[in-house]
Amino acid sequence: MSIKDNVGSLIQEVKRVCDHCNRDSSDISIVAVTKTVGITGMKEAIESGLTDFGENRVQELLEKIEQFDESVNWHMIGHLQRNKVKYIIDKVSLIHSVDSVRLAEEIQRQSLKLLKTTDVLIEVNVGSEDTKFGIKPDEILDFAGVISKYGNLRLRGLMTVAPYDEEPENIRPLMKLMHQKFNELKSLNLENSLIDTLSMGMSNDFKIALEEGATMIRVGSMIFGERS
Ligand SMILES: *Cc1c(COP(=O)(O)O)cnc(C)c1O
Repeated sequence: MSIKDNVGSLIQEVKRVCDHCNRDSSDISIVAVTKTVGITGMKEAIESGLTDFGENRVQELLEKIEQFDESVNWHMIGHLQRNKVKYIIDKVSLIHSVDSVRLAEEIQRQSLKLLKTTDVLIEVNVGSEDTKFGIKPDEILDFAGVISKYGNLRLRGLMTVAPYDEEPENIRPLMKLMHQKFNELKSLNLENSLIDTLSMGMSNDFKIALEEGATMIRVGSMIFGERS
């Protein structure tokens, strides 16, 4: 299967799932996760109609940004060290991985310097796994209250990497919890916020994520094949 075929079946699958749970598939954004993927593969993804790429390492992100024009939207989806914020701040359209007040503070500082507003998501460690970054689900609302004080950040919602499970059905309750927190966050009407993005679902579990209210899915291996 070519990348073009894979993108075709992904889009078809998103449409199918949305139809069956009465959602509008045009409300769903697909972020193609391109870590370890070469430039040729990424160009093929663009030719297939994708516009948004996600990377989890700053170095790789910066190297790739140079190879493309401004029609591509870049997403920082991995853990972000504070000292690297300055390198990406004017280049990414969304930072998915805000997981500490100190990181938010640094994004605020660098954004203010450039007189820009940076769109961010709060990363949630929904399965409370030791190996993952992100704040705990019961800390979301307080954390959001704190970072909403930063005038150069615009909080757009939540992101999670759900625990891997061969049977994705098992993680449905965690995705339900994310959706519930997302709705609570929306109803707080915090300043400097526009809560419209729930970034949840990967190759293995995007169908369940869509059924449970994800608005953005991050898909790598289903598009580009397994990473070595
Ligand atoms: C790698 C990665 C993905 C994509 O995972 P696949 O299983 O390849 O679809 C999504 N989100 C994050 C944060 C990742 O690091």
